[in-house]
Amino acid sequence: MIPRFTPSFEARDVLTWFLPTRARVEDYEQAFAAKFGASEAVAFPYGRSAQWAFLRATGVNAAEVLMPAYTCSVVAHAVVLSGNLPKFVDISLDDYNPTAQAVHDSIGPRTRAVVATHTFGYPQDVNEIERAVGEAESRYGHKIWMIQDCAHAFGAEHKGRMVAQVGDVALFGLNISKIANSIFGGMLTFQDSDLAATVRRWRDHNLRRSGVARELRHRIYALAACASLTRPVFGLTQVLQTRTPLLDRWTKAYHLDEEIRFPPDHDRSMTRVAAATGLRQLGKYDEIVDRRRRNAALYDEYLDLGPDCVKPPLVEGATYSHYVVRVPDRERMVREWANRGVQLGELIQYSIPHMSTYLGSDVAGFPNSLLASRHTVNFPVTPDNGSVRRILEASLR
Ligand SMILES: *Cc1c(COP(=O)(O)O)cnc(C)c1O
Repeated sequence: MIPRFTPSFEARDVLTWFLPTRARVEDYEQAFAAKFGASEAVAFPYGRSAQWAFLRATGVNAAEVLMPAYTCSVVAHAVVLSGNLPKFVDISLDDYNPTAQAVHDSIGPRTRAVVATHTFGYPQDVNEIERAVGEAESRYGHKIWMIQDCAHAFGAEHKGRMVAQVGDVALFGLNISKIANSIFGGMLTFQDSDLAATVRRWRDHNLRRSGVARELRHRIYALAACASLTRPVFGLTQVLQTRTPLLDRWTKAYHLDEEIRFPPDHDRSMTRVAAATGLRQLGKYDEIVDRRRRNAALYDEYLDLGPDCVKPPLVEGATYSHYVVRVPDRERMVREWANRGVQLGELIQYSIPHMSTYLGSDVAGFPNSLLASRHTVNFPVTPDNGSVRRILEASLR
Protein backbone atom coordinates (compact mmCIF):
# COMPACT_ATOMS: atom_id res chain seq x y z
CA MET A 1 0.00 0.00 0.00
CA ILE A 2 1.29 3.48 -0.86
CA PRO A 3 0.59 5.60 2.27
CA ARG A 4 -1.43 8.80 1.95
CA PHE A 5 1.56 10.74 3.19
CA THR A 6 5.24 9.95 3.56
CA PRO A 7 7.32 12.19 5.83
CA SER A 8 10.83 12.57 4.48
CA PHE A 9 12.93 10.92 7.17
CA GLU A 10 16.17 9.12 6.46
CA ALA A 11 18.52 6.98 8.51
CA ARG A 12 20.36 10.09 9.74
CA ASP A 13 17.13 11.58 11.06
CA VAL A 14 16.34 8.38 12.89
CA LEU A 15 19.79 8.51 14.47
CA THR A 16 18.97 11.88 16.11
CA TRP A 17 16.28 10.09 18.13
CA PHE A 18 18.92 7.80 19.65
CA LEU A 19 21.66 10.34 20.31
CA PRO A 20 21.90 13.15 22.87
CA THR A 21 20.57 16.40 21.39
CA ARG A 22 22.85 19.36 21.03
CA ALA A 23 20.30 21.56 19.25
CA ARG A 24 18.33 24.05 21.32
CA VAL A 25 14.77 25.21 20.69
CA GLU A 26 16.17 28.72 20.11
CA ASP A 27 18.35 27.40 17.29
CA TYR A 28 15.27 25.99 15.58
CA GLU A 29 13.38 29.27 16.08
CA GLN A 30 16.20 31.27 14.53
CA ALA A 31 16.58 28.96 11.54
CA PHE A 32 12.81 28.92 11.03
CA ALA A 33 12.59 32.73 11.08
CA ALA A 34 15.45 33.00 8.59
CA LYS A 35 13.89 30.42 6.26
CA PHE A 36 10.48 32.09 6.11
CA GLY A 37 11.54 35.72 6.05
CA ALA A 38 10.63 36.67 9.62
CA SER A 39 12.50 38.75 12.16
CA GLU A 40 11.65 36.22 14.89
CA ALA A 41 9.98 32.89 15.51
CA VAL A 42 8.48 31.56 18.76
CA ALA A 43 8.03 27.80 19.26
CA PHE A 44 5.12 25.93 20.88
CA PRO A 45 4.11 22.29 21.47
CA TYR A 46 1.30 22.47 18.86
CA GLY A 47 0.06 24.90 16.23
CA ARG A 48 -3.19 25.24 18.17
CA SER A 49 -1.28 26.25 21.34
CA ALA A 50 0.56 28.87 19.31
CA GLN A 51 -2.67 30.41 18.05
CA TRP A 52 -4.28 30.30 21.49
CA ALA A 53 -1.19 31.90 23.05
CA PHE A 54 -1.14 34.68 20.46
CA LEU A 55 -4.77 35.64 21.18
CA ARG A 56 -4.17 35.52 24.94
CA ALA A 57 -0.88 37.40 24.81
CA THR A 58 -2.36 40.21 22.71
CA GLY A 59 -5.39 40.51 24.99
CA VAL A 60 -8.01 39.60 22.39
CA ASN A 61 -10.97 38.60 24.53
CA ALA A 62 -14.74 38.17 24.11
CA ALA A 63 -14.29 39.17 20.48
CA GLU A 64 -15.06 37.69 17.10
CA VAL A 65 -12.27 35.94 15.20
CA LEU A 66 -12.94 35.49 11.50
CA MET A 67 -11.91 32.13 10.04
CA PRO A 68 -12.86 29.71 7.24
CA ALA A 69 -15.73 27.26 7.79
CA TYR A 70 -13.60 24.61 6.13
CA THR A 71 -10.27 24.22 7.92
CA CYS A 72 -8.71 22.20 10.70
CA SER A 73 -11.13 22.21 13.67
CA VAL A 74 -8.34 22.97 16.14
CA VAL A 75 -8.24 26.52 14.76
CA ALA A 76 -11.81 27.06 15.98
CA HIS A 77 -11.00 25.27 19.27
CA ALA A 78 -8.10 27.68 19.84
CA VAL A 79 -10.42 30.64 19.28
CA VAL A 80 -12.98 29.35 21.79
CA LEU A 81 -10.40 28.28 24.40
CA SER A 82 -8.80 31.73 24.25
CA GLY A 83 -12.14 33.20 25.31
CA ASN A 84 -13.37 34.32 21.88
CA LEU A 85 -15.98 33.44 19.31
CA PRO A 86 -15.22 32.05 15.86
CA LYS A 87 -17.07 33.68 12.99
CA PHE A 88 -17.05 31.41 9.96
CA VAL A 89 -16.72 32.35 6.30
CA ASP A 90 -17.75 29.90 3.58
CA ILE A 91 -15.17 28.80 1.04
CA SER A 92 -15.02 28.92 -2.71
CA LEU A 93 -14.87 25.56 -4.49
CA ASP A 94 -12.17 26.87 -6.84
CA ASP A 95 -9.36 26.51 -4.31
CA TYR A 96 -11.17 25.61 -1.04
CA ASN A 97 -10.51 29.00 0.57
CA PRO A 98 -12.77 31.98 1.26
CA THR A 99 -12.40 34.69 -1.35
CA ALA A 100 -10.94 38.03 -0.30
CA GLN A 101 -14.36 39.55 -1.06
CA ALA A 102 -16.07 37.12 1.34
CA VAL A 103 -13.55 38.00 4.04
CA HIS A 104 -14.11 41.71 3.38
CA ASP A 105 -17.89 41.31 3.67
CA SER A 106 -17.69 39.30 6.91
CA ILE A 107 -15.61 41.68 9.03
CA GLY A 108 -17.86 43.37 11.58
CA PRO A 109 -17.59 45.77 14.53
CA ARG A 110 -16.71 42.95 16.96
CA THR A 111 -13.99 41.41 14.75
CA ARG A 112 -10.58 41.67 16.42
CA ALA A 113 -8.66 39.09 14.41
CA VAL A 114 -8.80 37.57 10.93
CA VAL A 115 -7.30 34.14 10.25
CA ALA A 116 -6.32 33.96 6.58
CA THR A 117 -5.84 30.29 5.78
CA HIS A 118 -4.04 28.97 2.72
CA THR A 119 -5.74 25.60 2.69
CA PHE A 120 -4.01 22.77 0.82
CA GLY A 121 -1.20 25.24 0.15
CA TYR A 122 -3.17 27.61 -2.13
CA PRO A 123 -1.97 31.17 -1.46
CA GLN A 124 -4.78 33.64 -0.90
CA ASP A 125 -4.87 37.15 -2.28
CA VAL A 126 -3.12 38.59 0.77
CA ASN A 127 -2.95 42.06 -0.76
CA GLU A 128 -6.75 42.27 -0.90
CA ILE A 129 -7.22 40.75 2.57
CA GLU A 130 -4.67 43.18 3.98
CA ARG A 131 -6.59 46.05 2.40
CA ALA A 132 -9.92 44.79 3.77
CA VAL A 133 -8.45 44.55 7.27
CA GLY A 134 -6.90 48.01 7.01
CA GLU A 135 -10.20 49.51 5.87
CA ALA A 136 -12.09 47.87 8.74
CA GLU A 137 -9.52 49.14 11.26
CA SER A 138 -10.16 52.72 10.12
CA ARG A 139 -13.93 52.18 10.07
CA TYR A 140 -14.13 50.68 13.57
CA GLY A 141 -11.18 52.51 15.12
CA HIS A 142 -9.43 49.52 16.66
CA LYS A 143 -6.64 47.04 15.88
CA ILE A 144 -7.61 43.93 13.93
CA TRP A 145 -4.88 41.26 14.03
CA MET A 146 -4.12 39.55 10.76
CA ILE A 147 -3.05 35.96 11.35
CA GLN A 148 -1.73 33.93 8.41
CA ASP A 149 -2.45 30.24 8.92
CA CYS A 150 0.47 28.72 7.00
CA ALA A 151 0.08 25.17 8.36
CA HIS A 152 -0.47 23.97 4.77
CA ALA A 153 1.49 26.73 3.10
CA PHE A 154 4.89 27.22 4.72
CA GLY A 155 6.66 29.24 2.03
CA ALA A 156 3.70 29.80 -0.30
CA GLU A 157 3.75 32.99 -2.35
CA HIS A 158 1.02 35.19 -3.76
CA LYS A 159 2.32 37.12 -6.77
CA GLY A 160 5.88 36.74 -5.50
CA ARG A 161 5.05 37.87 -1.95
CA MET A 162 5.51 35.20 0.74
CA VAL A 163 2.16 35.00 2.53
CA ALA A 164 3.84 34.28 5.88
CA GLN A 165 5.36 37.78 5.73
CA VAL A 166 2.03 39.58 5.43
CA GLY A 167 0.07 40.79 8.44
CA ASP A 168 1.01 40.54 12.11
CA VAL A 169 1.83 36.89 12.65
CA ALA A 170 2.05 33.59 10.76
CA LEU A 171 1.04 30.27 12.28
CA PHE A 172 2.65 26.90 11.47
CA GLY A 173 1.68 23.38 12.49
CA LEU A 174 4.62 20.99 12.74
CA ASN A 175 3.12 17.55 13.39
CA ILE A 176 4.30 14.61 11.33
CA SER A 177 1.74 15.14 8.54
CA LYS A 178 2.85 18.71 7.82
CA ILE A 179 5.12 19.89 5.03
CA ALA A 180 8.40 20.20 6.96
CA ASN A 181 7.72 18.88 10.43
CA SER A 182 9.30 18.47 13.84
CA ILE A 183 6.83 15.64 14.65
CA PHE A 184 5.61 17.65 17.64
CA GLY A 185 5.28 21.38 17.54
CA GLY A 186 3.91 24.64 16.31
CA MET A 187 5.52 27.97 15.45
CA LEU A 188 4.63 31.64 15.20
CA THR A 189 6.69 33.97 13.04
CA PHE A 190 6.74 37.76 13.32
CA GLN A 191 7.94 40.75 11.34
CA ASP A 192 7.74 43.00 14.42
CA SER A 193 10.27 42.15 17.15
CA ASP A 194 8.34 43.95 19.90
CA LEU A 195 5.24 41.87 19.22
CA ALA A 196 7.39 38.72 19.17
CA ALA A 197 8.88 39.69 22.53
CA THR A 198 5.41 40.16 24.05
CA VAL A 199 4.30 36.70 22.91
CA ARG A 200 7.58 35.10 23.98
CA ARG A 201 7.26 36.62 27.46
CA TRP A 202 3.68 35.34 27.72
CA ARG A 203 4.79 31.88 26.62
CA ASP A 204 7.70 31.69 29.05
CA HIS A 205 5.44 32.76 31.88
CA ASN A 206 2.54 30.43 31.08
CA LEU A 207 3.95 27.24 29.55
CA ARG A 208 5.54 24.54 31.67
CA ARG A 209 9.03 23.35 30.74
CA SER A 210 9.45 19.92 29.19
CA GLY A 211 11.46 17.53 31.33
CA VAL A 212 13.49 14.38 30.72
CA ALA A 213 10.47 12.05 30.70
CA ARG A 214 8.73 14.08 28.00
CA GLU A 215 11.91 14.25 25.91
CA LEU A 216 12.16 10.47 26.12
CA ARG A 217 8.50 9.94 25.24
CA HIS A 218 8.92 12.11 22.16
CA ARG A 219 11.91 10.04 21.02
CA ILE A 220 9.97 6.81 21.39
CA TYR A 221 6.91 8.21 19.65
CA ALA A 222 9.06 9.55 16.78
CA LEU A 223 10.56 6.10 16.21
CA ALA A 224 7.19 4.37 16.40
CA ALA A 225 5.48 6.86 14.07
CA CYS A 226 8.30 6.70 11.55
CA ALA A 227 8.37 2.89 11.63
CA SER A 228 4.60 2.65 11.25
CA LEU A 229 4.73 4.69 8.03
CA THR A 230 7.59 2.71 6.52
CA ARG A 231 6.85 -0.22 4.28
CA PRO A 232 6.38 -3.10 5.09
CA VAL A 233 5.33 -2.07 8.62
CA PHE A 234 2.76 0.27 7.04
CA GLY A 235 0.72 -2.77 5.92
CA LEU A 236 0.49 -3.89 9.54
CA THR A 237 -0.39 -0.36 10.69
CA GLN A 238 -3.24 -0.39 8.20
CA VAL A 239 -4.64 -3.66 9.53
CA LEU A 240 -4.33 -2.51 13.16
CA GLN A 241 -5.98 0.81 12.36
CA THR A 242 -8.89 -0.44 10.29
CA ARG A 243 -9.57 -3.79 11.98
CA THR A 244 -8.69 -3.15 15.63
CA PRO A 245 -9.03 -0.32 18.18
CA LEU A 246 -5.36 -0.67 19.23
CA LEU A 247 -4.12 2.55 17.63
CA ASP A 248 -7.15 4.71 18.37
CA ARG A 249 -5.43 6.05 21.43
CA TRP A 250 -2.87 7.80 19.22
CA THR A 251 -4.74 8.48 16.04
CA LYS A 252 -8.11 9.55 17.46
CA ALA A 253 -7.13 11.06 20.81
CA TYR A 254 -4.86 13.46 18.99
CA HIS A 255 -7.58 15.14 16.98
CA LEU A 256 -10.50 15.28 19.41
CA ASP A 257 -12.48 16.86 16.60
CA GLU A 258 -15.87 16.56 18.22
CA GLU A 259 -14.91 18.19 21.48
CA ILE A 260 -13.64 21.66 22.19
CA ARG A 261 -10.57 20.85 24.23
CA PHE A 262 -6.81 20.64 23.87
CA PRO A 263 -4.56 17.65 24.59
CA PRO A 264 -3.20 17.61 28.16
CA ASP A 265 0.32 18.60 27.06
CA HIS A 266 -0.80 21.68 25.11
CA ASP A 267 0.90 23.97 27.63
CA ARG A 268 4.32 22.31 27.71
CA SER A 269 7.33 23.81 25.97
CA MET A 270 8.65 22.33 22.72
CA THR A 271 11.11 19.50 23.36
CA ARG A 272 14.73 19.67 22.22
CA VAL A 273 14.35 16.47 20.26
CA ALA A 274 11.48 18.06 18.31
CA ALA A 275 13.69 21.09 17.64
CA ALA A 276 16.53 18.85 16.42
CA THR A 277 14.14 17.02 14.10
CA GLY A 278 12.62 20.24 12.81
CA LEU A 279 16.05 21.72 12.12
CA ARG A 280 16.95 18.77 9.89
CA GLN A 281 13.61 19.03 8.08
CA LEU A 282 14.09 22.75 7.42
CA GLY A 283 17.23 21.87 5.48
CA LYS A 284 15.12 19.68 3.19
CA TYR A 285 12.25 22.15 2.79
CA ASP A 286 13.06 23.29 -0.76
CA GLU A 287 13.48 19.74 -1.98
CA ILE A 288 10.20 18.66 -0.31
CA VAL A 289 8.19 21.48 -1.89
CA ASP A 290 9.80 20.96 -5.30
CA ARG A 291 8.70 17.34 -5.20
CA ARG A 292 5.14 18.35 -4.23
CA ARG A 293 4.97 20.83 -7.10
CA ARG A 294 6.34 18.32 -9.56
CA ASN A 295 3.89 15.62 -8.44
CA ALA A 296 0.92 18.00 -8.54
CA ALA A 297 1.84 18.94 -12.12
CA LEU A 298 2.11 15.27 -13.06
CA TYR A 299 -1.29 14.49 -11.53
CA ASP A 300 -2.78 17.49 -13.28
CA GLU A 301 -1.56 16.26 -16.62
CA TYR A 302 -1.76 12.49 -16.39
CA LEU A 303 -4.02 11.30 -13.53
CA ASP A 304 -7.01 9.83 -15.34
CA LEU A 305 -10.07 10.01 -13.10
CA GLY A 306 -12.91 10.36 -15.61
CA PRO A 307 -15.33 13.22 -16.13
CA ASP A 308 -17.11 13.01 -12.72
CA CYS A 309 -14.07 14.04 -10.71
CA VAL A 310 -12.84 17.62 -10.30
CA LYS A 311 -9.09 18.08 -9.98
CA PRO A 312 -7.68 20.99 -7.96
CA PRO A 313 -6.09 23.98 -9.70
CA LEU A 314 -2.40 24.47 -10.34
CA VAL A 315 -1.54 27.83 -8.79
CA GLU A 316 1.74 29.75 -9.00
CA GLY A 317 3.42 29.79 -5.57
CA ALA A 318 1.27 27.00 -4.05
CA THR A 319 2.87 24.37 -1.79
CA TYR A 320 0.38 21.48 -2.36
CA SER A 321 0.14 20.17 1.18
CA HIS A 322 -2.58 17.92 -0.27
CA TYR A 323 -3.67 17.11 -3.82
CA VAL A 324 -7.42 17.25 -3.38
CA VAL A 325 -9.94 15.84 -5.83
CA ARG A 326 -13.72 16.29 -5.63
CA VAL A 327 -15.51 12.99 -6.27
CA PRO A 328 -19.17 11.89 -6.44
CA ASP A 329 -18.83 8.94 -4.03
CA ARG A 330 -15.97 9.21 -1.57
CA GLU A 331 -16.33 5.82 0.10
CA ARG A 332 -16.34 4.01 -3.21
CA MET A 333 -13.33 5.96 -4.43
CA VAL A 334 -11.33 5.20 -1.27
CA ARG A 335 -12.24 1.50 -1.54
CA GLU A 336 -11.36 1.26 -5.22
CA TRP A 337 -7.99 2.90 -4.73
CA ALA A 338 -7.22 0.77 -1.67
CA ASN A 339 -7.72 -2.24 -3.95
CA ARG A 340 -5.19 -0.68 -6.31
CA GLY A 341 -2.68 -0.40 -3.47
CA VAL A 342 -3.05 3.34 -2.83
CA GLN A 343 -4.30 4.91 0.40
CA LEU A 344 -6.28 8.08 -0.28
CA GLY A 345 -6.57 10.73 2.40
CA GLU A 346 -9.92 12.15 3.50
CA LEU A 347 -8.92 15.51 4.85
CA ILE A 348 -10.91 17.65 5.84
CA GLN A 349 -13.98 15.55 6.65
CA TYR A 350 -16.08 18.15 8.38
CA SER A 351 -17.46 21.63 7.96
CA ILE A 352 -16.90 23.32 11.32
CA PRO A 353 -20.24 25.21 11.55
CA HIS A 354 -21.94 21.84 10.95
CA MET A 355 -20.08 20.08 13.78
CA SER A 356 -22.28 19.37 16.80
CA THR A 357 -20.08 21.47 19.09
CA TYR A 358 -20.31 24.52 16.86
CA LEU A 359 -23.86 24.13 15.65
CA GLY A 360 -25.28 27.64 15.46
CA SER A 361 -28.47 28.92 13.90
CA ASP A 362 -27.21 29.47 10.39
CA VAL A 363 -25.68 26.39 8.77
CA ALA A 364 -27.36 27.28 5.49
CA GLY A 365 -24.65 29.88 4.93
CA PHE A 366 -21.92 27.28 4.31
CA PRO A 367 -22.95 25.09 1.37
CA ASN A 368 -19.47 24.87 -0.19
CA SER A 369 -17.85 23.96 3.08
CA LEU A 370 -20.38 21.16 3.56
CA LEU A 371 -19.91 19.89 0.02
CA ALA A 372 -16.10 19.88 0.30
CA SER A 373 -16.32 18.05 3.63
CA ARG A 374 -18.27 15.21 2.02
CA HIS A 375 -16.84 14.92 -1.48
CA THR A 376 -13.07 15.31 -1.33
CA VAL A 377 -10.21 12.82 -1.27
CA ASN A 378 -6.51 13.52 -1.52
CA PHE A 379 -3.83 11.63 -3.40
CA PRO A 380 -0.38 10.97 -1.94
CA VAL A 381 1.66 13.96 -3.05
CA THR A 382 5.01 13.13 -1.45
CA PRO A 383 5.97 9.64 -2.58
CA ASP A 384 9.00 8.73 -4.65
CA ASN A 385 8.91 8.75 -8.45
CA GLY A 386 8.23 5.03 -8.68
CA SER A 387 5.10 5.33 -6.53
CA VAL A 388 3.84 8.31 -8.52
CA ARG A 389 4.26 6.30 -11.72
CA ARG A 390 2.34 3.41 -10.15
CA ILE A 391 -0.49 5.77 -9.14
CA LEU A 392 -0.69 7.25 -12.63
CA GLU A 393 -0.70 3.81 -14.21
CA ALA A 394 -3.36 2.59 -11.79
CA SER A 395 -5.63 5.49 -12.82
CA LEU A 396 -5.68 4.13 -16.36
CA ARG A 397 -7.19 0.85 -15.23
C1 LIG B 1 -2.42 21.33 11.42
C2 LIG B 1 -3.08 22.62 11.30
C3 LIG B 1 -3.01 23.60 12.32
C4 LIG B 1 -2.28 23.40 13.63
O1 LIG B 1 -2.42 22.14 14.09
P1 LIG B 1 -1.77 21.45 15.38
O2 LIG B 1 -2.21 20.04 15.17
O3 LIG B 1 -2.36 22.07 16.57
O4 LIG B 1 -0.29 21.60 15.32
C5 LIG B 1 -3.62 24.82 12.07
N1 LIG B 1 -4.28 25.06 10.92
C6 LIG B 1 -4.37 24.16 9.93
C7 LIG B 1 -5.08 24.51 8.68
C8 LIG B 1 -3.80 22.89 10.10
O5 LIG B 1 -3.90 21.99 9.11
